[in-house]
Amino acid sequence: MTLYEQYTERLRKIADINGAIALLHWDSEVNAPKKGADFRGQQLATLSALSHELSTTAELGALLQQLMEQKAELSETEACNVQRSWEDYQLATRLPVSFVRELSQARSTAFQAWIQARRENNFAPFQEPLTALIALKRQEAELLGYEGHPYNALLDQYEKGATVAQLDPLFRDVREQLVAFARELRERGTPSPSDFLRVSYDKDAQWELGLELLREMGYDFDAGRQDLSEHPFTTTFSPGDVRVTTRVHEHEPMSMIGSCIHEGGHALYEQGLPAAQYGLPLGAATSLGIHESQSRLWENNVGLSLVYWRANYDRLRRYFPTQLEGVSVEQFYHAINQVQPNFIRIEADELHYHLHILVRYELEKALMDKSLEVKDLAQAWRDKYREFLGVEVPDDLRGVLQDVHWSEGLIGYFPTYSLGSFYAAQFFAQAQKDLPQLSADIEAGNTRPLLDWLRERIHRYGRQYTSEELCERATGEPLRLSYFMDYVRRKYSAIYGI
Ligand code: ZN
Repeated sequence: MTLYEQYTERLRKIADINGAIALLHWDSEVNAPKKGADFRGQQLATLSALSHELSTTAELGALLQQLMEQKAELSETEACNVQRSWEDYQLATRLPVSFVRELSQARSTAFQAWIQARRENNFAPFQEPLTALIALKRQEAELLGYEGHPYNALLDQYEKGATVAQLDPLFRDVREQLVAFARELRERGTPSPSDFLRVSYDKDAQWELGLELLREMGYDFDAGRQDLSEHPFTTTFSPGDVRVTTRVHEHEPMSMIGSCIHEGGHALYEQGLPAAQYGLPLGAATSLGIHESQSRLWENNVGLSLVYWRANYDRLRRYFPTQLEGVSVEQFYHAINQVQPNFIRIEADELHYHLHILVRYELEKALMDKSLEVKDLAQAWRDKYREFLGVEVPDDLRGVLQDVHWSEGLIGYFPTYSLGSFYAAQFFAQAQKDLPQLSADIEAGNTRPLLDWLRERIHRYGRQYTSEELCERATGEPLRLSYFMDYVRRKYSAIYGI
């Protein structure tokens, strides 16, 4: 066996275990009986430890080092895989085992405290455990190493190459342009009637509609399936098995539709990754931000557009003729695109969503460079919501306690959500430029050219490029907020009659 074959074999073994972990996770969310939860947790912990062990063995390190020395003899694809695996290995072995254990302990303490704090609707019980966890995250940044800001070390784990130097100008534009535009819409505020979206929509009919929408966008049901779960998600067991879940609420049809299309976008990306690269970096998604760009492009740029609903409104009305009686497609379009500031991030519209992320970005950065301490976090949260969203946060449950992320030590994760939408807007603008017929195609119910464009420009590369490189290759430019701003300005100015 050549060295490269040995490397491939090792990585695929790890991928097999990770696939089994994903399957057990999926089963826990979708099928598993209550009494199995403890044993399932144990099984998952065992497999995760095994996977981590295999990813960090000295043998793998030595093999990668040898391959790095012989990189010139490898093909371009092989060399790229080896390079990425070498970087992964360095990162995975930089944290001492004792630190990983300490961090994991602090996370579970903080998570329990977060549950308790939520139960009491009071930040206080969470303060001390979170302080300890943040101290460890600062230490983690030092152990991982960084240039510039300590937050960079954590950002890099979720979005390779992302730095404060890249994100600061982006979020400065969000603060200057998006906050002002949101305020303008707020003052304009003549909401269209949308009562018809809150009447009863039969759940079975919603489910059937969701399957149809997924099929229409190109999701391959021979390489996946949809099920119900409390929180919708997409998971991959192998290139031939990419699953999605959704939720169905009787009085919120747009919740099911939005989540179906969103997860469908994630799944199309996974189904479009090169199967021949299974288990290797080039067979995996570029980053969280790029993954989210795929879900949001379908959910927002496509799924909340007038042309999409011109194509699909008759389908919707076939399922729900009485609920939508007398409602024109234009009225429907206006109703599903109302924007309004709110307290809860996951319930935010596509515009205010980024103001929620802006708050978290600034707070995380300040926590990492010690310009903010955890004891002042709840107050800082309220101040920023007043400043950016113009709302008075009524309590901690609808404030600083709403997200699970910090309790799990996920610092640096939030920005990837916004990056997703910003990349989506830039990709979609480029697709429109490259495919002059795109809007007409979507209006005719044909999204295949768009999917082909995404496959060609984004999906097939896996982790060959960083997000920034991929963006430059696909659109000729680094990421800019202007594409997102143009998109929301054009869309909402028309809807709000500005
Ligand atoms: Zn997503």
